[in-house]
Amino acid sequence: MLPFSFFDAHCDTISCCAKHGWELAESPGHTDLRRGEAFAHYAQVFAVFHDGAQPPPDGMFAECVRQIETFWAQLARSPDRVVQCRTAAEFDQAEKTRRIAALLSVEGAELLECDPKRLDFAAHVGVKLINLTWNRANALSGSNAEERGRGLGEQGRVFVKRAQELDILMDVSHLSDPGFWDLIEITEKPVVASHSDSRALGGHPRNLTDDMFRAIRDSGGFVGLNFYLPFLGLDGSVNAVLAHLEHFLDLGGEKTVGFGGDWDGCDALPAGIRGIQDMGLIYEEMVRRGYGQELIDAIFYNNLKRVIFKG
Ligand SMILES: [Zn+2]
Repeated sequence: MLPFSFFDAHCDTISCCAKHGWELAESPGHTDLRRGEAFAHYAQVFAVFHDGAQPPPDGMFAECVRQIETFWAQLARSPDRVVQCRTAAEFDQAEKTRRIAALLSVEGAELLECDPKRLDFAAHVGVKLINLTWNRANALSGSNAEERGRGLGEQGRVFVKRAQELDILMDVSHLSDPGFWDLIEITEKPVVASHSDSRALGGHPRNLTDDMFRAIRDSGGFVGLNFYLPFLGLDGSVNAVLAHLEHFLDLGGEKTVGFGGDWDGCDALPAGIRGIQDMGLIYEEMVRRGYGQELIDAIFYNNLKRVIFKG
């Protein structure tokens, strides 16, 4: 048993279950129930994701519904081990009954056809976070890989307003820089970057500038460190993860930063990290560097819990 709890903001494991027939109970990827049960408590945000290169013939929303059904089917196979959490009460119950807490997110609003009316469905099925874009620009905004100079249009603003009314948080990982700042201007809720690192260290446009990090911090939001090597840059070691972490802490991020490993959504992790089973390496390094227990618990678990469930 690992001596700490772990709440991670981003994985693509459900889309792998849908695509490759993986089982959540025990998968060949970066996370599964067996490994999650090694933590004092494990909570994970599972993204619905499709790259849209060959959109399904029945459309992206049909794909979204299918993947949510896959998520539910996987949970239904292990009801004594894992439970979906839509509310703080359900999350507390998962902790009390020692079941893994599974949360839903949607990575790319094109999976909801960028339609604000689809947000009622998303809220109803328990989606907690939505990325306005994935890598592809869409009707709401440019992304940080495509149409990088385009921010939120009118439809994007209506989408954000409706999502926030429904208590769904906006996730800016993948969003264009102008889209980010447009969102910061209108947001009435904490802003989340579920799986992004520091641009000051990693240099990659998928990462956050220091000003972006401060804006998220000031919104009461959350930033999850991404373990994908091209975003981390540096020497690609566990120390690179710590360097990004400490950069964000230096920006006053002790209540903001945590993890969003991009598990099963990336194919190059730091040396020694095979998946969530190796989070102990990060934990041990934080202990070795003299981090206090309260800060470690905030980073590993409590920050994300507080932002999503206002706990
Ligand atoms: Zn992503």
